[in-house]
Amino acid sequence: MQWETVIGLEVHAQLATQSKIFSGASTAYGAEPNTQACNVDLGLPGVLPVLNKEAVRMAVKFGVAIGAEVASRSVFARKNYFYPDLPKGYQISQMELPIVGIGSLTIDLEAGESKVVGITRAHLEEDAGKSLHEDFHGMTGIDLNRAGTPLLEIVSEPDMRSAAEAVAYAKKIHALVRYIEICDGNMAEGSFRCDANVSVRPKGQEALGTRAELKNLNSFRFLEKAINLEVERQIDIIESGGRVVQETRLYDADRNETRSMRSKEEANDYRYFPDPDLLPVELDEVFINEIRATLPELPDEKRQRFESDYALSQQDAMVLTASRELADYYEAVVAAAKSDPKIAANWVSGELAAALNRDAIDITNSPVTAELLAGLLTRIADQTISGKIAKQVFEAMWQGEGDADAVIETKGLKQITDSGAIEKLVDDVVINNPKQAEQYRSGKDKLFGFFVGQVMKETKGKANPQQVNELLKKRLAQD
Ligand code: ADP
Ligand code: MG
Repeated sequence: MQWETVIGLEVHAQLATQSKIFSGASTAYGAEPNTQACNVDLGLPGVLPVLNKEAVRMAVKFGVAIGAEVASRSVFARKNYFYPDLPKGYQISQMELPIVGIGSLTIDLEAGESKVVGITRAHLEEDAGKSLHEDFHGMTGIDLNRAGTPLLEIVSEPDMRSAAEAVAYAKKIHALVRYIEICDGNMAEGSFRCDANVSVRPKGQEALGTRAELKNLNSFRFLEKAINLEVERQIDIIESGGRVVQETRLYDADRNETRSMRSKEEANDYRYFPDPDLLPVELDEVFINEIRATLPELPDEKRQRFESDYALSQQDAMVLTASRELADYYEAVVAAAKSDPKIAANWVSGELAAALNRDAIDITNSPVTAELLAGLLTRIADQTISGKIAKQVFEAMWQGEGDADAVIETKGLKQITDSGAIEKLVDDVVINNPKQAEQYRSGKDKLFGFFVGQVMKETKGKANPQQVNELLKKRLAQD
């Protein structure tokens, strides 16, 4: 039997507002527990929520960015359940009338392929607090700092067909919310979290299989692993004659398994009803258009422009537009360097990205600034140094040893382009290695590399490689 995987994602993006969605308390991360929870967040009797306009703006910005319907009227509803980190006994969310309706997103797959994924809706809601189990023996601590933090929950259609597609979708949403500056995307701090709904069905069958929901996957790697595990688990169950039950499951990264958290039947009667404390949100075209006008160049547009303006491949353009900061850095390098944009692309996505990754540094804090890298590329282009020596210069710049010119000067790395000097070295090397010269001349072409290596060794890699090649060929042709 051939099985087809079906995945729909729910993404929770924490909106980057200063204050909470229904109160004036700060949303800053990392404060002492319960120092950023006011009466509203604590759910004290008699308080009234007041909607944060900035949260509404950000939700609308997302809606217009994906070309979705933005509702002229949306309604907040109470989602009732009991949990210690939810003091009101209900979460304020949106049910029947969400602020953002149907839209879609194009995701990028391997080999330049793309696919359109439907977006069902995106709604505003408040986050709950946190239960802390670690620091309290036999007790649980409750931190309500996070309670009331604005979230945008983005719900997709069940359109993904593999873990790889789900990851591509999550990455695309992640890049988008950061581009439009509505979410910092910090997955480790929980500002961007994914729930994956996963089911399988026999290939060719139209009806969806029963799904399991995998909760709070906080890295792309976990998302991929958890989905693949879950697909395997479900196929095993069905193939051994069992039935998949609808339930919520947790992914345990340490054990690399998913396990049941609660079955859907027990948990899903939330008795939603419109929140009587909050008026419906009514938006006019003027407001929506004003927000549309603030949209920056979006990832897809930027990628296309990079392809045409800098003659980059789709792959290069995709890598360089993965975040706005990276794209800005690249464009700053291209603007400042007297160099080919393709070479700049190779350096930014190669040497620079590797160093950032190695030292876990964000591009906005790179010790090699765009200006410094541009200076280096200019010296490659004008042949002051070879591409190989440039890597050495880059490493010195990374260690804070100054700009390219200073490093080249103090380390004496200037390329040798004086053909007289190179000719002399070539001559010496050929004379000092008569056996190899003999063998080369009798047809052992591979030995050419040996001679190049010898000349390079003599000059510590500083001889212009092209000239070395030419002069060696000429010299070896003589006897
Ligand atoms: P709930 O609110 O109970 O989680 P929804 O119907 O809103 O349920 O669906 C949530 C997510 O689950 C959506 O992203 C949707 O695409 C996805 N989904 C629904 N049914 C399936 C299924 N059979 N297989 C995979 N994903 C599904
Ligand atoms: Mg759900």
